[in-house]
Amino acid sequence: MNTPIKPAGKGARRIPEPFRIKMVEAIRQTDEPERRAALEAAGWNPFLLRSEDVYIDLMTDSGTGAMSDSQWGALMRGDESYAGSRSFYRLSEAVEQIFGYPYTIPTHQGRGAEQILFGELVARRASKAPVFLSNYHFDTTKAHVELAGGQAINTLNPEALDTAAYHDWKGNFDLVALEEQIGRAGAENVVAIIATVTCNSAGGQPVSMANLRSASEIARRHAIPLVIDAARFAENAWFIREREAGYEGVSIAEIVREMFGYGDIFTMSAKKDALVNIGGLCCFRHDPELFRAVQVRCVPLEGFVTYGGLAGRDMEALATGLREGMDASFLDYRIGQVAYLGERLRAGGVPIQYPTGGHAVFVDARKMLGHIPPEQFPGHALACELYLESGVRSCEIGSLLLGRDPVTGAQESSPFEHLRLAIPRRVYTNDHMDYIADALLAVNERAASVRGMEFTYEPPVLRHFMARLRWRQ
Ligand SMILES: *Cc1c(COP(=O)(O)O)cnc(C)c1O
Repeated sequence: MNTPIKPAGKGARRIPEPFRIKMVEAIRQTDEPERRAALEAAGWNPFLLRSEDVYIDLMTDSGTGAMSDSQWGALMRGDESYAGSRSFYRLSEAVEQIFGYPYTIPTHQGRGAEQILFGELVARRASKAPVFLSNYHFDTTKAHVELAGGQAINTLNPEALDTAAYHDWKGNFDLVALEEQIGRAGAENVVAIIATVTCNSAGGQPVSMANLRSASEIARRHAIPLVIDAARFAENAWFIREREAGYEGVSIAEIVREMFGYGDIFTMSAKKDALVNIGGLCCFRHDPELFRAVQVRCVPLEGFVTYGGLAGRDMEALATGLREGMDASFLDYRIGQVAYLGERLRAGGVPIQYPTGGHAVFVDARKMLGHIPPEQFPGHALACELYLESGVRSCEIGSLLLGRDPVTGAQESSPFEHLRLAIPRRVYTNDHMDYIADALLAVNERAASVRGMEFTYEPPVLRHFMARLRWRQ
């Protein structure tokens, strides 16, 4: 099915919002000198801007979504008991019904789940050279693998690297590379295989059911646990329904259930598809013994096992949001809005990761700013230019984010230099999408004059958050 999702090309059809707006929050447009001053003060790092100086914030789709009237209503039912909260049981039941996982630990967000799980998995493997294999480790996932003493190796399929060529499943594992890496490391040293759905770092690109099934067969054959990094589980399920033979007409709920049947454990940042502003999950399909051991780690790091760093009301909103995030008409609109922005950019000659994924448009900065080498961070330079042009905040996914090899200290070689335009859920209208597209087309016109960047301060880990930079002369 080699056809782009939803009407593409000129005149891409807008899918109207399947909601009406009950409450508004004012945002402020600024002028260019104001923006220049703000970004200068922020060390030319959009992460360090004040949000009031941002007009449209596409830095992330994480925790930035709008809750529904049902979710706000659910907040009032929160049971704030320290232990045994009713809201915990409601959440745990929702997880079991949706995913088929009977053992739930709430966490404050996705990285909380990574922290309590990975340490335990590494301790159990008792290997001198523990390795995690993934289609692609998200940045905090990689950081927690390394903090737990492991090495994070990606086995993304090479189709993802050709941004211009249409491919249905750019998030897939390269299954041959996965087998090779298991052979190289020795199966006894592979702590886990992590399936990131959708694959955030490749552009929010989906993983097919067939690929997930094969990855799980490989994992089982080598007695390696398969962990699903499930932040965008519903968007991934939507792509399976849209593109994979045999799934048209199958409900999102049934697809989700099958996907999670291939995993043993899942970690989830609930700040994405689960439509809450804070929250995470660490859940187990079987293995109550491992579940208890991870619960023991949860207590000192996240909090007691029936709240895990969340308020009771957060767990209520999350239980409601898990279901809303799977609503088919919401997903049609949601992924359609991303595709619409992508098509407008493509029609105007801006190179993007094509087709667009679930939560963001990834602009290929390596192509757009071909004169800037990776070590001068073309994606980051583009983020600065887009902000100066329009007040739109975005985020680099490339060499700056990837960082240095922890052993040699050399810049790691990034397979891509992307600018990510992450679209918050249910927050911006389709008119906002046009404003963003117009701004990026204007930057594209003067692309040749954009300079590269260099550090004035480089933090030792997760450097992109706190780094300060300047334009190269
Ligand atoms: C956001 C995200 C995480 C980390 O979750 P936080 O809630 O930000 O801690 C992990 N994996 C993926 C794929 C993510 O998108």
